[in-house]
Amino acid sequence: MDTKWEKISREHIDEDLLREAGEIIRRGGLVAFPTETVYGLGGDALNPESSRKIYSAKGRPSDNPLIVHIADLQDLDKIVSHIPKAAEALAKHFWPGPLTMIFSKNEAVPYETTGGLDTVAVRFPSDKTAQVLIKAAGGFVAAPSANASGRPSPTSGKHVFEDLQGRIEMILDSGSCEIGLESTIVDMTEDIPVILRPGYVTEEMLEEVLCRVEVDRTILSNLSGAAPKAPGMKYRHYAPKGELVIVSGESRRVTAYVNDRIKEGAAVGKKVGIIVTDETIDSYEACLKKSVGKREDEAAVARRLYEILREFDEEGAEAIYSEAFDYGGMGHAIMNRLLKAAGHRIIKV
Ligand code: AMP
Ligand code: MG
Repeated sequence: MDTKWEKISREHIDEDLLREAGEIIRRGGLVAFPTETVYGLGGDALNPESSRKIYSAKGRPSDNPLIVHIADLQDLDKIVSHIPKAAEALAKHFWPGPLTMIFSKNEAVPYETTGGLDTVAVRFPSDKTAQVLIKAAGGFVAAPSANASGRPSPTSGKHVFEDLQGRIEMILDSGSCEIGLESTIVDMTEDIPVILRPGYVTEEMLEEVLCRVEVDRTILSNLSGAAPKAPGMKYRHYAPKGELVIVSGESRRVTAYVNDRIKEGAAVGKKVGIIVTDETIDSYEACLKKSVGKREDEAAVARRLYEILREFDEEGAEAIYSEAFDYGGMGHAIMNRLLKAAGHRIIKV
């Protein structure tokens, strides 16, 4: 199949093009599109055949459910069996935006979309292109991240093209995503809502609205045997080809430890990459150096992280060392993704 790769502008929505893209989804085809978090691979959420195609295009295990994207709050009622009060409150504060909520599904949603579960994950994205596309596609678009399964989530149209060219009908490309990490997922089917995946909307932000939320205990740990409630969280995602190790500790000790590894690598001709910050980059020996930006600017770190992991693959890094980041605010989401990419290898120095 030929994949149409269309560059689009966020400022001037091309209504004709989005109508064409919506038509592709209505007919059962797949279109990748930008959202504020990462690029999504969209198909008709109410058509089981479309969901099957999504799994096959990504090479995604079919027990890993898809998030259904809506563009009108009124539409939520049409796919879930019950909307708890707490969910109404969260929707009011955080929708449209980078928050996904889990509800009990109704019969309109096929099990192919929910990976066989009786619950459905729903998000109302704030990206205007996404909103216009969802409406043009009939209102309910199932969209996991538009990467090949096991690769870092795509934060640009180019990343989508690399992974999915020839497998989907169209890519709508508006450049880099604003946030760069996937949405926060909260399970609203429990008495006390539970965060299943950390993201831009933090525990603190949710607690300002709800008083109490819990955090799934598998999020930052490597508990073998404990099954995460978001099935996707059990897979080793985002793994770069080179072995990634996180090095945590006092800054000078981290630099010294990593510099030793760079020298060892250089001695045997091994390509070593490092993920560091603007503050520290000059203290490291020569190697494949990448800065995520200023340490305190966690939004910049989030935006750049996946792109860096992809660059290392292209450049053939065989060993990668990353500085660790603080867990406050979005740092929780950043460390969650980094730990998964590293297969939970973290060294304290
Ligand atoms: P992605 O769209 O690639 O960001 O992945 C979607 C994530 O949402 C995966 O981790 C899924 O396991 C999770 N998810 C989707 N639907 C549900 C659900 N009904 N219950 C729990 N987790 C879900
Ligand atoms: Mg994904």
